[in-house]
Amino acid sequence: MTRIRWNTAEQSRDWRSLNEAIDLLPYGDVPCQNDPDLFFLEDASSPSASLRAAKLACDGCGVKELCAEYAIKHEPDYGVWGGTTPRERRMLLIERKGEAPNDPR
Ligand code: SF4
Repeated sequence: MTRIRWNTAEQSRDWRSLNEAIDLLPYGDVPCQNDPDLFFLEDASSPSASLRAAKLACDGCGVKELCAEYAIKHEPDYGVWGGTTPRERRMLLIERKGEAPNDPR
């Protein structure tokens, strides 16, 4: 989680909540803190071994759901968060808005 820019007070609050949850985990148990480059790939929408590795690492993270929710709301276009890619987050956003997904990229 290296790139942070708050666009709204809600984003700032959600970021603090995510980080408070991360702080409760034992040191070393948050995979993206150990290897941030794996999670913030230049192109996290194209299938690759690195992308699969990042998604798998998130599966073992104690804040996966909270992290994914944060990213769905605030980081749709960059990196692997909570086991989701930018494309998956955009699809989830569309589904939540009740629109028919049309493969956004
Ligand atoms: S779910 Fe993945 S991206 Fe989110 S904090 Fe955990 S390891 Fe990092």
